[in-house]
Amino acid sequence: MRTEIKMVDLKNQYLKIKSEIDFAISQVLDSTEFINGKEVKIFQQNLEHYLEVKNVIPCANGTDALQIALMSLDLQPFDEIIIPSFTFAAAAEVTKLLNLTPIFVDVDFETFNIDVQEIEKNISPKTKAIIPVHLFGQAANIEEILQIAAKYDLFVVEDAAQSLGTNVYFSNGTTKKTGTIGHLGTTSFFPTKNLSCYGDGGAIFTNNDFLAEKCRIIAQHGAKTKYFYERIGINSRLDTLQAAILNVKLKYLENFNAARQEFANFYDSKLKNNEKISIPVRNSFSNHIFHQYTIVLNGINRDKVRDFLQKNEIPSMIYYPVPLHFQKPYISEQKNLLKTEKLCDSVLSLPMHTELNVEQQNKICEKLLEAVSIPDFSSDNK
Ligand SMILES: *Cc1c(COP(=O)(O)O)cnc(C)c1O
Repeated sequence: MRTEIKMVDLKNQYLKIKSEIDFAISQVLDSTEFINGKEVKIFQQNLEHYLEVKNVIPCANGTDALQIALMSLDLQPFDEIIIPSFTFAAAAEVTKLLNLTPIFVDVDFETFNIDVQEIEKNISPKTKAIIPVHLFGQAANIEEILQIAAKYDLFVVEDAAQSLGTNVYFSNGTTKKTGTIGHLGTTSFFPTKNLSCYGDGGAIFTNNDFLAEKCRIIAQHGAKTKYFYERIGINSRLDTLQAAILNVKLKYLENFNAARQEFANFYDSKLKNNEKISIPVRNSFSNHIFHQYTIVLNGINRDKVRDFLQKNEIPSMIYYPVPLHFQKPYISEQKNLLKTEKLCDSVLSLPMHTELNVEQQNKICEKLLEAVSIPDFSSDNK
């Protein structure tokens, strides 16, 4: 069977679980409880149970989840928030929106996650929070981040949009899921994420009941009781239809993540012995659920490789092409973060989703290895 290779194959995944999904959607249509229907509460409880966290607060998307989490901390204008520069813009964006100052920090070149040594160097009397992003499905060094946060009395808000289901192994032997470890955690159910719905969705996690209550109030217009407002909030809800879809898909999350891990192992085995390619480095304190399978190209012109792959009907993506501290809205925070800058120039993400097959993966690896061996593709910058 020849199927088109995609970065993410939502269609074939849907077909696998179509009858359950269609039934769940039809139930919501029948009830017409499109907002705050019973599926939303059920999903909240299912996710609390899966993550082993006291409070899940569903909301409209992962960016809102970060905004609500930060709002619940009641910070002062220009308080500083430490954020990795090699990531998606959401954390920096909501920081600026709330009149706070993002302090961009470099990442570890091998794991792509925030460099813990760099965090401490960037702490000032105005620093109030750290937002570690568990990038591409692997945890940031959250145990050490918590120690730094405790030392300087900072909040930790984990961005777990790419790591729903990732386990962190602590040195005392306990295991916890990313997003449930800091004061607050957030995620996104955007269609390409590991746990995803068929539109926008997100959630906030916390074991702190006081912060949970604040997040709930903020997400519903600042009102604890409808029409009685306690503070300025926003309108951020998870649709009942999306919750119904998520209730089905949550049951498959462990299997879906296992499939991604299997495909990652396959890529590793084919690509590991090529000096032009650095395969993803796995840390020792978490597992990796491969939201992305991202390699680093060494001494190779990335554009030429991507063109070559594209001509062979193999898509690839660059996450992320430009460091946040070089982007227009954040240019006032400009500095030199050399590892982030180098990664932006050399990373390449390969197709990764739950529906890959051996034939597709063989073709991807074969063509990639062919591309990096073309003499004309080598670059002089290394
Ligand atoms: C996807 C993503 C978000 C934002 O999620 P949305 O639901 O699209 O708002 C935030 N942070 C990271 C790291 C993400 O990958």
